[in-house]
Amino acid sequence: MKKIIKLTAALAMALALVFAFTACGGSDEEKEAAAVKTVTEGELHMATNAAFPPYEMTSDDGGFEGIDVEIAEAIAKKLDLKLVVDDMDFTSVITSVQSGKEDIAMAGLTVNEERKKNVDFTETYAKGVQSIIVTEDSDIKKPADLKGKKIGCQDGTTGYIYCSEDFGDKNVTSYNNGATAVQALIGGKVDAVVIDNNPAKEFVKSNKGLKLLDTAYAEEDYAIGINKDSKDLYEAVNGALKELKEDGTVDKIVDKYIKAE
Ligand code: GLN
Repeated sequence: MKKIIKLTAALAMALALVFAFTACGGSDEEKEAAAVKTVTEGELHMATNAAFPPYEMTSDDGGFEGIDVEIAEAIAKKLDLKLVVDDMDFTSVITSVQSGKEDIAMAGLTVNEERKKNVDFTETYAKGVQSIIVTEDSDIKKPADLKGKKIGCQDGTTGYIYCSEDFGDKNVTSYNNGATAVQALIGGKVDAVVIDNNPAKEFVKSNKGLKLLDTAYAEEDYAIGINKDSKDLYEAVNGALKELKEDGTVDKIVDKYIKAE
């Protein structure tokens, strides 16, 4: 008799477990309702400055393309969201996420201690190297030669921060984006431009008379910035990015835009 009671109890427990499990799975509608919260329902807004090839730039059809744009698209797809790219000045990229206007900051964005106070960073997905562009006839051969020279940088970037710390504020001119800094170099207004290596290569390729020094100025990591109060979004985006790194999608996207030398 005792045995039977025990058996019945075990059976009841097993059944209860099965019920609990099915309830947890939920219907499709329930799953969608539990989708991660973003600024605009159903959309993932990416704050960027689309003048930073090959990470983000405008495409011929008026849209956006680049490594960051495609990685963000793949993340959005995994989270069942539609990616919306919002192009702005680089100096607004972090502040717009911090103030809750945008979901993710993705702009070849370097992780540093100062920025970590304002946003949470995901895992890194690429490396950047601060590099020096000069004119072909320049006497600047290495970073130390920048001393006393006029340097052009993009406003608010790590390149600007390093140069003003190392060579003095008055020697560094900031421009709205990399392309205008490069135009200033071509026009003789500055002697060098310090900017991330891959955009630097693109600028040298598309403008005559410029060269890239082969000594690196500083090495850094790129990651996605997310509002410190959006913990669920952070987990979702970071998890998706991790999967995309592991399954080779990130590498494939990088290889598409950066040809091996
Ligand atoms: N990696 C640099 C930074 O984060 C430059 C980024 C950019 O200009 N888009 O400051």
